[in-house]
Amino acid sequence: MGKQDICFEDGEPPDGRPASVALGTVGIDAVKGEKGETGRTRVPKLATVSEFLANSGTVKFRRKFFEDVSAGEWNDWHWQLRHRITTLGELEKMFLLSDEERSALSGHGSAFPVAITPYYASLIDPDNPSQPLRRTVIPTAAERIRGRGENEDPLGEEKDTAVPGLVHRYPDRVLFLLTDTCSTYCRYCTRSRIVGGPKDRSLSTERWNRAIEYIESNPSIRDVLLSGGDPLTLPDDTLEWLLSRLRRIPHVEVMRLGTKAPVVMPQRITPALCRMLGRFHPLWMSIHFTHPAELTEEVKKACENLANAGIPLQSQTVLLSGINDDVDTMRQLFHGLVKMRVRPYYLYQCDPIIGSGHFRTPVEKGLEIIRGLRGYTSGFAIPTYAIDCPGGGGKVPLMPDYVMGRDGDDVVLKNYAGNLYRYFDGEAAQIH
Ligand code: SF4
Repeated sequence: MGKQDICFEDGEPPDGRPASVALGTVGIDAVKGEKGETGRTRVPKLATVSEFLANSGTVKFRRKFFEDVSAGEWNDWHWQLRHRITTLGELEKMFLLSDEERSALSGHGSAFPVAITPYYASLIDPDNPSQPLRRTVIPTAAERIRGRGENEDPLGEEKDTAVPGLVHRYPDRVLFLLTDTCSTYCRYCTRSRIVGGPKDRSLSTERWNRAIEYIESNPSIRDVLLSGGDPLTLPDDTLEWLLSRLRRIPHVEVMRLGTKAPVVMPQRITPALCRMLGRFHPLWMSIHFTHPAELTEEVKKACENLANAGIPLQSQTVLLSGINDDVDTMRQLFHGLVKMRVRPYYLYQCDPIIGSGHFRTPVEKGLEIIRGLRGYTSGFAIPTYAIDCPGGGGKVPLMPDYVMGRDGDDVVLKNYAGNLYRYFDGEAAQIH
């Protein structure tokens, strides 16, 4: 689709509301059909709800805790957003809480809010506080402990912030933080300092416009990563407005969306969204996955819809102690992703945000996992293990040592099974 087909006006997102208002009311407005007439060209009315095959555990959960809710409502992402589980009272109706969880939820934990979509809550073990998915979204008192080297902004994003909401660290790409909101909050979130408002960083159209103007005036920027928060908590027409503004900038070659929505709220991946996103190629998507228990029928369907819209999908995973820090779990996750046409992209060492020590593994654990995968599964099913350098040094890939050194003209290599081989490197070096 050419740029001439994109008809939104430049200065304001559709419906003219400040983004901060749109964020807070997106689900409610859309469900009630209250969006006003603006006269602007809008996305045609399309089906808003995908036909999801619900997994059996989720069906049981819905019947138990949301007995009056129809499958249609459950599969509407606006409903999922409006009914996020956010309080101790709601959680204790669904889960047998441990003392550690109860203490954190009683207001003594970190200031980072709790929110879990009903869908994602349906995947949580009600009785086992050690269950991997549960640990990623229900806080414990361990969040109060500030470990050595931890700080609010471990990646030094503030110092590389060119204009509010736009991080310009690498020469040819920027990180555009569109929103402070996520449908579900991960307890190890690198941006917990800004995510989960309300804080004094309320988003606005003016802020988006300033960021877009910065990108327009910097021809070296060829790649824009749209993140947050989760960009897929924004309404379709707001996203379309943002994407169309960026797509009109001649030097922006590639756009990427960073999101966890297909995992925690797969209902968000509607046919209408996929059709809209498919108009802005090349558009890539990085999806935040954590554990094979997330790979449900619903998630499979969401990824299928995105892939069928021509969107290349890649995963990002944070290595988390006691959650996914073993070879078998990672192998299951990456094999499952490849089957869903999601290419494992990055495995991150957990960033040292405040109160994250209970999630962090030694670096050797990450190397052990890569060692346990390399050679034992397809190369494209193995992500790059990386540390995002504290202070803003960027991502540094880590690999187990496969090059043992040189011996004369030979490079000595160790293969996946631990056997040594020599590669003669003398003549090739002379020819060049
Ligand atoms: S989805 Fe991403 S931005 Fe949102 S809470 Fe999780 S890690 Fe943070």
